[in-house]
Formats: sequence, structure tokens, C-alpha cells
Amino acid sequence: MKIVVCAKFVPDATADRRFRSEDNTVDRAGVDGLLSELDEYAVETALTVKEAGDAEVTILTVGPEQAADAVKKGLQMGADAGVHVLDDAIHGSDAVATSLVLSKALAKLEADLVVFGMGSTDGSMGVVPAMVSERLGLPAVTLGSEVTVDGNTVRIRRDGDTASDTVEGTLPLVLSVSDQANEPRYPSFKGIMAAKKKPVETWTLADLEVSADQVGGASSWTEVVEVTARPARTAGTIVTDEDGSGAAQLVEFLSTNKFL
Ligand SMILES: Cc1cc2nc3c(=O)[nH]c(=O)nc-3n(C[C@H](O)[C@H](O)[C@H](O)COP(=O)(O)OP(=O)(O)OC[C@H]3O[C@@H](n4cnc5c(N)ncnc54)[C@H](O)[C@@H]3O)c2cc1C
Repeated sequence: MKIVVCAKFVPDATADRRFRSEDNTVDRAGVDGLLSELDEYAVETALTVKEAGDAEVTILTVGPEQAADAVKKGLQMGADAGVHVLDDAIHGSDAVATSLVLSKALAKLEADLVVFGMGSTDGSMGVVPAMVSERLGLPAVTLGSEVTVDGNTVRIRRDGDTASDTVEGTLPLVLSVSDQANEPRYPSFKGIMAAKKKPVETWTLADLEVSADQVGGASSWTEVVEVTARPARTAGTIVTDEDGSGAAQLVEFLSTNKFL
């Protein structure tokens, strides 16, 4: 079975994330970045399926030069190979364009099982898996909190607020997993050393027969027109209960702020 994990390179949430003033896109070059934490659950799912049967796991990323680190992390966790789609024309792509590039790469890789995270930690739209399944004409089994692969059948449990669904589909298909699906493994020293020898291919848009005018800021259906920093968090109200009026002050605060 050919398993491909779509893994996004994102700015480190603990770093000082910035937008580029020239086009309001995320500054991915000037800040530390890493494999999107929510995609580690997707890598772990793929490795678990691989260890239970006969499969090969490829990490696929679309992103700038630094996105090679997202592939490297997946290889260190235990994936077999990587593909990095790198092309300046992709800069500023919206989800529609990203899904086009990913779909073309997945078709070229002839993936049987495509695994996604539940959403990236920067754009956080959670739409790319459905867009890719539509483009490839494959079933989408999404937001699995528990995943079983039995021959050609993939079955998940998807947890909702009031009920859990059991959803299944037949390979080839698109799967996305939630952050409840597993405990991603940490790369072992052996895994980190082995990753250095694993094959990583770098593809351009030309390799995927995608033209530059189909991707990038210019072809985007959406545009970030303005970025305003969120007001800094205030310290909040501190209630000291020296004279026994603490409870009254608390009720006053809750009712003033319409919590009651
Ligand atoms: C703050 C912000 C706001 C944005 N708003 C919009 C918007 O309103 N509309 C719009 O169309 N675009 C928007 N974008 C651009 C969008 O984030 C990118 O196009 C992105 O590649 C796809 O969207 P996402 O990160 O939300 O993906 P999601 O749909 O959240 O990603 C789901 C999964 O798809 C896979 N995936 C996503 N991107 C990649 C990738 N580059 N390489 C490999 N796998 C990937 C991962 O498995 C991920 O877990 C925004 C970006 C940012 C940073």
C-alpha cells in the first residue's frame, strides 16, 4: 500500500509570527517554523498502518525552502521517503490553489491512502482534505479519532458533541485524523540518523504540469487585505477579599460582564 501524508510547514506558534508588509502573507522565511503539530497525528497514523501491514509511507509538503524541515521530521519519525513541492510561484496560494498542487502530486505518487491532519496551525481552515478528495474523485473519511484499516476498508470513529459516527470507505481514499487519534512518537536517535539517508525529491510546478497562473497570490480567490494585531492581553481584574466583600465583588464582575 502506498501511503502519502500531507504535512504542512508552519511558523512556530511560540515564535513571533509576522505577516509580510508587502503582501500580508505569513512571513515563513523570517521566523522559525516546523511540521504543523496537528500533522504529526497524521504521520503517526500512517506509521501505525505501515507497521500493521505491508506499506510505504511518503511525506508530501508544498512550501518554501524551509518546508524541507517538515519532511525531515516525518522521515525521522519513521516515514520512508519525502516529496517537497518547491516553486516561487506558489507563494501566497490560497487553499484552492494548495489543493490543486497537492492533488497533482498525489496523482503522480499514485497514493492508495492519503492522510491529512485535521487542520493546519496557521491557516486552520480544515478544508484542504475535502478539496483534494473532490479533485481526485476519491472518498473522504475525515476527522477520525480512531482509525482501523482492514484490507481495503478504512473505518474511523468520528467524535461529535452529542454522538460518535462510525464511517468507512474503500481504498483509494482520503483520510484526515484528529488530535485524539494517537500519541505521535518522538523521533529516536536511530530514526534521526536513518532519516539522513532517506530519499527526498524536490518537484517544481512544471513537474506537476501546473502553470504559475493557477497558483500564488495573483490567482487566489481570497486576499488578506489588512492585518491588525490583537490588543495585548490585560492583567484582568484581581479581587482581594480582605473585608469579606470578595463574593459581592465577584457577582458584580460576573453580572457586569453578562456572565450571569
Ligand atoms: C492566517 C491565514 C489565513 C488564511 N486565510 C485563508 C482563507 O481565508 N482562504 C484561503 O483560501 N486561504 C487562506 N489562507 C491560505 C491557506 O492557509 C493556505 O492556502 C494553506 O496552504 C491551506 O490552508 P490551511 O493551512 O488552512 O489548510 P487546512 O485546510 O487547515 O489543512 C488541512 C490539512 O491539509 C494539509 N495541508 C495544508 N496545507 C498544506 C501544504 N502546504 N503542504 C502539505 N499539506 C498541507 C495538512 O495535512 C493539513 O493538516 C490563509 C493562511 C493564513 C496563514
